[in-house]
Amino acid sequence: RKSTVVITGASSGVGLQAAKALAQTGQWHVVMACRDLSKTETAAQTVGIPKDSYTIIHLDLASLDSVRQFVKDFRNSGRSLDALVCNAAIYMPLIKEPLWSVDGYELSVATNHLGHFLLCNLMLEDLKKSSASEPRLVILGTVTHNPKELGGKIPPRPDLGNLQGFEAGFKAPHTMIDGKKFEPVKAYKDSKVCNVLTMKELHRRYHESTGITFSSLYPGCVATTALFRDHYPLFQKLFPLFQKYITGGYVSEEDAGKRVAEVVADPAYNESGMYWSWGNRQKKDRKSFVQEVSNEASDDDKAKRLWELSEKLVGLA
Ligand code: NDP
Repeated sequence: RKSTVVITGASSGVGLQAAKALAQTGQWHVVMACRDLSKTETAAQTVGIPKDSYTIIHLDLASLDSVRQFVKDFRNSGRSLDALVCNAAIYMPLIKEPLWSVDGYELSVATNHLGHFLLCNLMLEDLKKSSASEPRLVILGTVTHNPKELGGKIPPRPDLGNLQGFEAGFKAPHTMIDGKKFEPVKAYKDSKVCNVLTMKELHRRYHESTGITFSSLYPGCVATTALFRDHYPLFQKLFPLFQKYITGGYVSEEDAGKRVAEVVADPAYNESGMYWSWGNRQKKDRKSFVQEVSNEASDDDKAKRLWELSEKLVGLA
C-alpha cells in the first residue's frame, strides 16, 4: 500500500515539484491541497505526475472555514495521512495597503501562518493514526527569516515584537504581528518566522507523545517561482540571473522539490525539531545539514505565546 502525503500549494513551484518527486517514487499518493482545482490539474499533467498517483482537494488557506472543510473532505476520502507538507505561501512586496483574509486578518500572515496553523492542529489527529513507521509534518521556512545568515540581512528584518498585534486580535487597524505600521515584505518574513516557531512548538508539545517528526527546511533560492509574480517585472527578470551568477544561491524548482521530498521521505531526515538547509551558495552535490535558526525563531517562550494567541485567532481556544 502507498503512503499518503498532503501538500499545500502544490499547483506551482516547489510544491508542484515536491508532489512530482514523491509520486515518482511509486511509494506515495499525493493529495494536492490547492485553491484552484483546474490550474492544479493542468499543472499535474504538464509536469507528468502519473494519473493514478494524485488527488486534488480544494483548500483556500485564507479562509479558516475552507481549512476545516478541507480536513472533512480529506477524511471522507478514506485515506490515512502519513505526511503533511505546509508549503503554500504568498509574497506581495509592492502593495501599499494591506489585503485581508475572509476572516479579517492581514492576508500574508493569514495564508502563510494562521491557515497552516489550523491545518496542522486538525491534521495532527490524522497523523497520529498513521501506520507509517515515520510519520512527518514539514513546514517550509526560508533564509530571509534569519538575520544571522547572509540571505537574511537585507532589511526590513522580521520582528514579531511582543506579539502586540496578535494580542489585540489582529483585525483592522492591526496589520502587523508586532502591532507596528504595515510593511508587506516584513509581513512575509514575519509569517515565515511563525512557520519555524510553529514547527518548534509542535516538536516540543507532540514529538515525544506521538513519534511524529516535525521539521522545516530552506530549499535554496528558487528564484524562478511564481512567489515573485507580484514583484516588478524587471526584478523578476534580473533576480534569477543575480542569484545564478552573482550570489550562487540559485536552485531549480525541480531540485528544490526533490529537497522537500527528501525531508518528507528519506530515513536520513527522521530527526524531529530540525531545520534543514543546503546553504546559501549552491554547490554541486552539496549535502544538507542542520542549520541554526534565528534568535527569534529559537525563542521557546515566544513559540508558546505565539501558539496560544494563534489558537485564539483560528478559533481553537
Ligand atoms: P509559488 O508561488 O510558486 O507557489 C505558492 C503556492 O501557494 C501556489 O501553489 C499557490 O497557489 C499557493 N497558495 C497561495 N495562496 C494560497 C491560498 N490562499 N490557499 C491555498 N494555496 C495558496 O511559490 P514557491 O514555490 O516559491 O513557494 C513555496 C514555498 O517555498 C513557500 O512556503 C515559500 O515561502 C518557500 N520558499 C521559497 C523560496 C523561493 O526562493 N521561491 C525560498 C525559500 C522558501 P496558486 O497557484 O493558486 O496561486
